[in-house]
Amino acid sequence: LSLGFAGNASAAKKPDYTNAKLPTEQRVKDLMSRMTLEEKVAQMCQYVGISHMIGAQQALTLQELETSDASGFYPGYTVERIREMTRKGLIGSFLHVVTAEEANYLQQLARQSRLKIPLFIAIDAMHGNGLYRGATVYPTPIGQAATFSPSLIERMSRQTAVELRACGVQWAFAPNVEIARDPRWGRVGETFGEDPYLSGCMGSATVRGLQTSKLQGQDKVLACMKHFVGGSLTTNGINGSPADMSERMLREVFLPPFIKCIDAGVMSLMPSHNDLSGIPCHGNRWLLNDLLRKELGFKGIIVSDWLDVERMSTLHTVVPTKEEAYLMGQAAGIDVHMHGPGFGECIIRAVEEGKINPKNIDDRVAEILKLKFDLGLFEQPFVDIKAIPKAVLTAEHRQTALDMARRSIVLLKNENQMLPLRRGRFSRIFITGHNADNQSTLGDWSFEQPEENVITVLEGIKAQEPDAQIDYLDVGRNVRSLTKPQIEEAVKRAKASELAILVVGENSMRYHWKEKTCGENSDRYELSLPGMQQQLVEAVVATGVPTIVILVNGRPLSTEWIANNVPAIVEAWEPGLLGGQALAEILYGKVSPSAKLPITIPRNAGQIGCYYNHKKSAYRFPYATGTTAPLYAFGYGLSYTTFRYSRPRLSTSAISVGDSARVSVDVTNTGTIDAEEVVQLYVRDDYSSATRPVKELKGFERIALKAGETKTVTFLITPESLSYYDAAMKYGVEPGTFTLMVGSSSRKEDLQSLRLTVGTNATVASS
Ligand code: BGC
Repeated sequence: LSLGFAGNASAAKKPDYTNAKLPTEQRVKDLMSRMTLEEKVAQMCQYVGISHMIGAQQALTLQELETSDASGFYPGYTVERIREMTRKGLIGSFLHVVTAEEANYLQQLARQSRLKIPLFIAIDAMHGNGLYRGATVYPTPIGQAATFSPSLIERMSRQTAVELRACGVQWAFAPNVEIARDPRWGRVGETFGEDPYLSGCMGSATVRGLQTSKLQGQDKVLACMKHFVGGSLTTNGINGSPADMSERMLREVFLPPFIKCIDAGVMSLMPSHNDLSGIPCHGNRWLLNDLLRKELGFKGIIVSDWLDVERMSTLHTVVPTKEEAYLMGQAAGIDVHMHGPGFGECIIRAVEEGKINPKNIDDRVAEILKLKFDLGLFEQPFVDIKAIPKAVLTAEHRQTALDMARRSIVLLKNENQMLPLRRGRFSRIFITGHNADNQSTLGDWSFEQPEENVITVLEGIKAQEPDAQIDYLDVGRNVRSLTKPQIEEAVKRAKASELAILVVGENSMRYHWKEKTCGENSDRYELSLPGMQQQLVEAVVATGVPTIVILVNGRPLSTEWIANNVPAIVEAWEPGLLGGQALAEILYGKVSPSAKLPITIPRNAGQIGCYYNHKKSAYRFPYATGTTAPLYAFGYGLSYTTFRYSRPRLSTSAISVGDSARVSVDVTNTGTIDAEEVVQLYVRDDYSSATRPVKELKGFERIALKAGETKTVTFLITPESLSYYDAAMKYGVEPGTFTLMVGSSSRKEDLQSLRLTVGTNATVASS
C-alpha cells in the first residue's frame, strides 16, 4: 500500500490540507473549500464493513474482500456498489470492521478517491476490542464497576486504544454510562451499574484512557458515551421501550455520568433507542442541542444508533416517511448516520432544495474532519499488520485483564469460612454447569476467542488443584437446555465426590444467538436462573455434598433459594479471558476477594426499584407478603480477612455553603492475610425542600492492607457532594444538616454516621 499522497508530481504545491505542519483549523478549512456537497455529506454516512455485509464468520482474505459480492444487506446495494462509493469518497466511515486487513483494504479504497479523505473505522469495544479475534478481553463493565477502581479502568482503556489502533480502528462505541435500575433489561452488564457517582467515575476513566485526554496521535481513539438518555429506564425491561422520566430524575440520576464524561473531554455521543417522555431521542432537538450542547457544553460529534433514525418513522411513528425521519434527525443534531444508504441522499436533496442551510452541514462536517486530522488519520490511515502482535494481547495487557478480573469477582456468601479451599483437602471434586468450561465468561460484545487465549473456570480450577481428581460433567453451554437425566447424572456424580462446584448463570455472548438470555435485546420478565439450573443446584445440595455456586452472568439474578441454602456463593459477572484463572485464585485463596456490588440484587423481579439510593417513603411499609430488603445490597462484598473501621472523624462539624470538609477513617486489616478493601462514603441531606434519597455514594477508595496494617482514608466533602436540585429546580447546597456515612457497604449495619452542619456564614460562626 502506498503511504504517501500520490498527488500530481508536476504540481508545485501540495494542497494545504495534506501538510501536517499546518494547524488543524487551516487544514480543515482548505479541505472543506475543495469538497463538493456530496463529498461533505459522505462524512456523515457510516456503513457496516464488508465482512459484516456478507455475514462472513471468518476473516476475509484480500481476494475475498476484493471480490465478494452479495446484495440484500443494504437492499438494492451490492458490495461492489459500496466499494465504488468508497473509491469515490462517498462514504465517511465504517463500523464493525473486525480485521486489520479489512480496515486497510477499505482505507485503500478511500485513498483512491479524489481528495483521499481517510475513513473513520468504528467498533463496540467496552471491555477490550472483543470483536477482534485475538484481542485482550477484559471483564465486562458491570464487573469493571465492581472493582471500584477507576485507575484500573483507565489503564484497561489505554490498552484497548492501543489494540484498536493496531487493528485499524479509531472510534470505540464506549462507555455505556446509563444508570441500570432495571435488571430485566439485558444490557445491564454493559453499564457500570445503578449509581450515578460510580458510573461517572468509571465512564470518565474510560474516556480518559481511550482518548488520553487529548486526541492526538496514533494510539488514541475517539470515545463515545451512550446512550443518551434513559434507555435503561425501560417501561417493562424491553430494550428501547419508552422512558418516561421527570426532569428531576433526568438531572439527578441520569445526567451526572454524562457530565463527568464531558468534563473528561469525550468527543462523541450516541443517542438511545427509546423515546424520552414522548420524544424519540434521535429527533429530540431539546435533548441533543439545547441540553447537551448548549447547557452541558458537549463539543463532540453525535452518531445515531443502529437504524434508530429510520425507527422514528417505522417504530415511533412520529413521521410517516424515512425521509422525514432523516431530516428530523439531522435537525435535532445527528452528525453521523449509522448505518447504510438513505440518509446522505436525503440530506443532499434537502440542501439542494433549500430546506437545510448548507452552513449547518459545513459546520458539522468540519467537526468530523477535525477529529480525523487530530487522530493523525490523514498522515497514516493504514496499519502495519506485522506490528499487531507487538500491540495486541501483550503480557502487560493480559496482566491488566487478570488484575481487573481478580478485583471484579464478588464473594456473596461464605458460611463457616468454607472458602478459601485448601489445596489437597478434597481428593475428588465434581464440577458442572453451563458456564464451567466455555467462553460465556467473555460476555457481550465479544466474539469467541482462540481457545488458547481463554482460561475457563474448569481450567482455572484444574491449575490450582493439579492433584485432585476432578470429575467434570459437560451439560453444554445453552443455559436453557438442561435436562432431567443430566440433573440425575449430576446427583450421582456429586454423591461420589467430596465437593461440588456448580458454575451457573446466563450467556450474553452476542454470537451465541440461540443460547443467549442476556445482553442487547435479551430482556427478561423474571430474574431466576434460566432453564433448569435452579433444579440442578437444589438436587446437588440435597445430596449433602458441600456445594459452591459460581454465578457467571451480566445482570443481577435473583437466587434467593441459593442464598439461603448454599454455603458459598461467588458472583463472577463476565470476567473476561483470564476470568477462570482469577476465579480459581479466589476460590483457593491466592487472592482475597475485594469486589463490591455496583448494583443491588433483588430477591425477585417484583422487588425491582430496590436500588439503594431510594427515597425514604419508598419503604414506608414492608410488603404484606415479604421483606423489602434486597437479596444483596449495593456496595456489598465479602473478604477473607476482617477489617476494623475506626470512628470516622470530621475536619470540622460545621461549614458554610460553598466550603468543603474532610472526613477520615482508619481502616485496619485485623486478619492474617493481605487483602484489599473498598472504603465507601455516603451522604444524606437530612431535611430538604425536595425529597432526597436515604443515602448517595459520594466517595470511595480501594486500599491494599497487609495483615495487621492500618491506613487512613480521607474523603473530601465538596459543595458538589452536597448539592442537588431544590424544590424550585435550582442546583446548589441547601443549608441544614447532612448525615455522612462511612463503611464497607451501603448496608446500615456496615456504616458509621456523623453529622455535618452546613449554614450561611453567620449561622456557622455562631454555632
Ligand atoms: C447498540 C449500540 C451499538 C451499535 C453498533 C446498537 O444496536 O445499541 O450500543 O454501538 O448497535 O454496534
